[in-house]
Order: sequence, then C-alpha cells, then structure tokens
Amino acid sequence: MESRDWTRFLLPLPKRFDLVGSLACAPGTIAISCSGAGVVLDQAVAHLREVIGAPAGTRTVLTIELALVEADAADSDELMGLPNADQAYRIHMAAPDRLRVYGLQSAGVLYGALTLGQLLRPSQGQHVIEVPLIDVLDWPDLEQRGLWNFPDPDEWIPWMAGMKLNYGKMADTRNLPVVRDEPGSAVIDVELQEVGRRHAFAYIPYIVHLNFLHDIGLFSAYPELAGVGDGALAGRYFAHNQGDQHRAPCASQPVLVDLLTDWLISIADQGADEISCWLSERPCQCQCERCTPTGQFLLETRAFLAAWRRAQARHPDLSIRIFSSTTTPQQDDRVLAELPPEVRFERACATAMDRVRRQPRDRFSNPLIDEAAATGRWVASYDVPIGAFGNVDTPEFKVPQYSAQRIRDFVSQLSQRSYAGAYGMLAWGTMGRQVCGYAICALAEFSWNVGGRSISDFATAWATLENISNPQAVGTWAELLGEVEFDIYDADFPICYSWGRAAQLVENRQPPRFGEGMFRHLTEVADFGRHIERCEQAATHVEGLERPELLLATDVISSYVKLSRAIWHVSHLFAHADLRQLETQQQLAEELQRLDVAGIGNVEAIRSWRTSLGAEPWHHRVHDAIAATQDTVRRIDGHIRDNYLH
Ligand SMILES: [Zn+2]
Repeated sequence: MESRDWTRFLLPLPKRFDLVGSLACAPGTIAISCSGAGVVLDQAVAHLREVIGAPAGTRTVLTIELALVEADAADSDELMGLPNADQAYRIHMAAPDRLRVYGLQSAGVLYGALTLGQLLRPSQGQHVIEVPLIDVLDWPDLEQRGLWNFPDPDEWIPWMAGMKLNYGKMADTRNLPVVRDEPGSAVIDVELQEVGRRHAFAYIPYIVHLNFLHDIGLFSAYPELAGVGDGALAGRYFAHNQGDQHRAPCASQPVLVDLLTDWLISIADQGADEISCWLSERPCQCQCERCTPTGQFLLETRAFLAAWRRAQARHPDLSIRIFSSTTTPQQDDRVLAELPPEVRFERACATAMDRVRRQPRDRFSNPLIDEAAATGRWVASYDVPIGAFGNVDTPEFKVPQYSAQRIRDFVSQLSQRSYAGAYGMLAWGTMGRQVCGYAICALAEFSWNVGGRSISDFATAWATLENISNPQAVGTWAELLGEVEFDIYDADFPICYSWGRAAQLVENRQPPRFGEGMFRHLTEVADFGRHIERCEQAATHVEGLERPELLLATDVISSYVKLSRAIWHVSHLFAHADLRQLETQQQLAEELQRLDVAGIGNVEAIRSWRTSLGAEPWHHRVHDAIAATQDTVRRIDGHIRDNYLH
C-alpha cells in the first residue's frame, strides 16, 4: 500500500500535489462537515459520501471538512492570486484528524472533493479505506473546458464533470415554430440544466445559426425576413450530407430583433443565465440595399446585442456569447469592435484559417482575435481535436484516435493565446465514449493542467481509471502511437481520402512533396518506415491486454501510414518517371500492386477495430472511412492502368 502511486488515480493531475502520509480507517469512521450551502456544496458532500460508501457512524477517526472561505479570511490569500481562482482549491491537514478542503467558491470546493474522491475510489467497497493525507493546491489553466454535442447528457455531464470539465453546449435547445405576430419561444432542458448546475457545469442553451431558421417556419411567418438574392444562400457544406440552401435572414428588419428578444427571454425564463447566439454559418449576404453596405455578420451581431439589451430589462443578469463558425471571419474585426467587453466570443472550425506552418508542429494564430483575447476579451475555441478529423467542416471519419499529443499541443497553444475556453466537437453520438473517450480525457487533463504531465503519465492514469491491468504499458504505447497519429491525422486527413485529394494528385500527375498536403508532417521517405516501426513497437505494449481495441487501433494508424507510403511511391514515380521504358512500367505496376495491398490492409484494419467494439450495423461514418480508402485506391489504380500501362 505504501508504494501506491496516488497520482495515477488522478485525472487531471493537480498543479501541486504532496503526499504527507496515509490513514487506514473504516468507512463509517469518516465524517464529512460542510460550511456553506447550495447545490454545488451538497453535490460535493454527496459525492464523497458515495465514494466512501457508508454513512458516518458514531465514532469518528477522520473528518473531511469542506469549506467556503471568505475572500478576506486568513487562508484565502494563496487562492486569491491564482488564475481562475473561483475554481481553485486547497486540501491540507488542518489537524491530525482533520482533512480540510476549501475554496473561494463552491466550484473550487467541489473540485477539491472530486480530487479527494478520485483518491478514495480505489478503496471503494472495502472494509478499510486508505485515505491519503495530502497537501494540494490546484487551479485550472483554462477557465472553461468541455464539449460541443455529446450523447446521453444525463450520463455524460456527471462523467465529464467528474474530470472537472465544466462546459457543454445544450444540444437539445429547441425553437418552437414561428407564428406571425405571436411571441417566439424556445424550449430548453431545464432538468439537465439543473444537473449541470449541481456539478458546476455550464450547460448552455443556444439560438441556432440564423441561416437555419427556415426549419421553424421563419420565412413563412415573416416573408420580409428572408434574405434577398442568391447571396443570402449560405450554401451547404460537406458535413451536411443533404439539405437545402440555408437562407440567411435580412438582418435589417426590426422584427428580427423582436423575435430574438422573445427567444432570449423565453430561454432565460426557464432559468438560463447565459445563451450562445449563433451567427449565420458560412459566407452569405442579404443583398438588400440596407444590409449590403453594413454586412451580414455585423448586422446579425447588432440584432443579437439589441435583443439582449431588451431581454436584460427582464433578466438583468443574463449574459450572451456570440458564436462565429465556419468560414465567416470577414467581419470579425467589426464584430469585436462593437461587442461590449462582457460579451463572450466563441469560434469554431477555424483551424485551417489559423494554421501557420512551423516545425516541428504547426502554430495556430490569429492576430486579430489573439490580441483581443490577450487584452481581456473572453474567447473560446471549439477546435480541440478530439476526433481524427479535428474539424467539423470536413466529413468526419469514425476511426480510432489516441493522440493526446495533438490535444495537448492545441490546448497549450490556446492557453498561450490567452483563450478562456477550450472545447472539442463531437459531431456524432453513437459510441462517442468508446471512440473518443480517451481524447476527451486528454482534453480534461491538459485544459486543466497544460504542462503538468507527460503523455505517458496521462495515459497511465487513464488506463488506471479504465481498470486496465497494466496501465504503464498503455502509457508507453500512447507515447509511441500518439506522435505517429498526430502526423497522420493532422495532415489533410480525412479529406485527402474523402474528397479525393490523393486521387487528384495522381490524376493531375502532380508530383508530391514532403511538408505538403497529406505528407505535411513527413520530411523524407524514411519517415514512413520509422512510423511503421514505431507503431510496431507500440503494439508490443498492448498485445494481450484486456482491451483489444488498443492493439487494433494501432493497426489502423499503421495501415494509414502504409497507405500514405504507397500513395507517395505511386504518385512520385508516376509524376517523374519516363513511362516509355518497359522497366519503369513494370516498376509502376508493382507500386500499384503495393497500393492495392495497402488499401486492403487499411480497410481490414478499420473493420477489425470497429468489430472489436461491436457488430454491424455501424455508424455510416465508419463506412465512409472504408469507402474513401477504396475509392482512392480504385481511382489511382484505374487512372494509371487504363491510360498509361501497356
Ligand atoms: Zn437585408
């Protein structure tokens, strides 16, 4: 017991953690006291009681004292100066029989209780609990950490909150159909909003993209709100497999402000204190003579701000955030200039526009918005790459992802850029936790404590919480595999396959280059071999573990490297070789053969991995990934064989 590495049970790792000793006692001899009231503190007490597993008896060996401390109290000093101090907490031995957990706000106290709960969990259900006597001082690096879109919120909110994630977009916000001259209204999930509050988790409703409102009959009720001209058609994008053209509203019409006011009030009446307001998605412009001179996004922003000010007459504490998503940066400068300082600004699908090529890893930077963040504007990003795709604007593949490296890199850049919020996007719910759970845990880890842990230590903690028998082996595996995956998934993936870019490379007889496109993170041919070798090394650490999907995920990554290598060789040879030579023809035919084998290998690897999680039917995005590989190979092979080989 003495040799137990307590930090393995912690996720995220606290900033400062010291073990003073430990105390073995029966669950019933642990008392919990709490100074302060409210649902969050109640949750803190209930959580610890649940982990301890027995009510307090008459004899007390140890008291866990939860406390809210006043800002001017003696023990508040060390918390006051910390970043995000409202979430900070301290745990220490106030007396030999008293473990004190305190914070300036109830969220901090809850987080202290969660940390302690993670340490008590290994003893849960036993007759004797080993309580580590600890000294902890802890606070998050990023203020808000969480997800956009996730399934089963009644289960996911407590799960995420247990790792100190504290934000979720309320997917089930719903605007009711619009009827002319009647107040607009919206329905939110009040019950889950309360579940969120108990867990200090902001479950925030939203008003959907203004170019999505035809669905609720906006233009039938108010034809004058339909944006004028084809310029108002925001168009489709790839993630929407079907759909109409998403007409943006004419944001000069005063009735838009009336409706937005109704919706904000309706949502606030149901208890929400913050609402995310979504600007139209994708470039568009109402072409009427009033809108055109000012611009769609600025006018939409003004409409939201005007509505918010009116809603504040009834709900003075209501706050809003403006959500800007998917290729709509054109007016960010003017939008930011007009936003009052207290209005938050959220971004999504911005990685492509922020990416600056840099070695060894790209830099993400946006001078305008980064400066705003650095000078006090509250800014959040939804682009933490918790999926293989890392961007909802592209067709996502449902393939395994275990690159905590990529997540740490992105989150640490957000932290350096003074962003307040780091969120990931889950565009689908089916098996979300099985496929993205590791990545979500990595988000929880590194958005709380950017520089705290190595990848290996993080993955070891993850595997410990997952009850995997050899957590350290998983740590080593993750350290090896995650770098390869970073190189593969961060380079034009999956659109090199799904949008046929790899096939086009060959069809255009364009010579490939390292550092570009799907070869973005490779520098020479030998890199393919190094990556495959690294995957093979990684695989040896998880062979035989009770979680076969880890080994099978390794095969998927390795098979993508092999596919990429085969495409490199075919496209390079095809672009440069003299195909009049029979010998060259034969060489090319051999490379095509290797490409076929690599394609089959990739498809089989994806199928095996997915089968290990469950039998068909699978989500269509698994089939999308398979089909994209097959199409790519077929197109390349067909193009060369049909036109160039004799
Ligand atoms: Zn207009």
